Amino acid sequence: MSTIDGLPPLREVIAAHGLSAKKALGQNFLLDLNLTAKIARVAGDLAGADVLEVGPGPGGLTRGLLAEGARRVLAVEKDTRCLAALAEIAAAYPGRLEVVNGDALALDPLAHLTPPVKIVANLPYNVGTELLVRWLTPATWPPVWSSLTLMFQKEVAERIVAEPGSKAYGRLAILAQWRTDVRIALKLPPEAFTPPPKVASAVVHLTALPAPRFEADPAVLERVVAAAFGQRRKMLRASLKGLAPGIEDLLHSVGIAPTDRAEQLPLEAFCALARAVAGARG
Ligand code: SAM
Repeated sequence: MSTIDGLPPLREVIAAHGLSAKKALGQNFLLDLNLTAKIARVAGDLAGADVLEVGPGPGGLTRGLLAEGARRVLAVEKDTRCLAALAEIAAAYPGRLEVVNGDALALDPLAHLTPPVKIVANLPYNVGTELLVRWLTPATWPPVWSSLTLMFQKEVAERIVAEPGSKAYGRLAILAQWRTDVRIALKLPPEAFTPPPKVASAVVHLTALPAPRFEADPAVLERVVAAAFGQRRKMLRASLKGLAPGIEDLLHSVGIAPTDRAEQLPLEAFCALARAVAGARG
């Protein structure tokens, strides 16, 4: 069977290299190269970009990225069993694919890439969320990367794009929407993966804004949001009590009713509150 890049179909690659999926590594592989090329296209024009791919596995998405013209792909994979299969892809795309064997939570390969940098990943749920939070909270903004194209469980994707008033609205929505434009680009049923996971998935695309949408100190905003959503059913005057003395007055000063709940507050109000809290603390 011919493929988009002349390399063997992924089923053959997996059989040849004995890559039976390991649950502990969250391995649910994408084997349809048309689908992986489509995900790569979500990341936009790749021709002039370096791509960091986390968790390439047998390389379905990696091949999509390269076939779609990525200038260079740096792929970080924890499972040593995948390295031989990835080396075959590197040989088919001379000088464009570099594979690093390691844990993406322990490495920070971003410094080795040349902007514009796009990050693309189909990762296990817990690793993906942890990395997303790190990528959204660098020491300085704008970050090294210009966009993130990430596969999540559908429910996590919905939390990232959630709007005020919904159950899904919380810390992830605020962290993401404060400094990026977010959208769900694709929804995938479990059968898109081998083996199929229990739940549906979605690809979220986040584009870094040149500056945060509203002014706020990141650490203070993080504390306000953590306190507010830590007890999301409580009124803000109760959930935020420990944040600053006279919290009711502070809430009033920025036009927030102390009887409101976190779920109802738009991002702009959280940022205004973070500025007021920072001001009250001097
Ligand atoms: N990208 C491939 C695809 O789409 O078919 C594989 C996706 S699979 C859901 C997740 C991949 O991430 C696996 O190859 C797994 O070994 C790798 N992985 C899991 N945890 C990792 C970590 N902490 N650092 C790097 N890779 C990891």
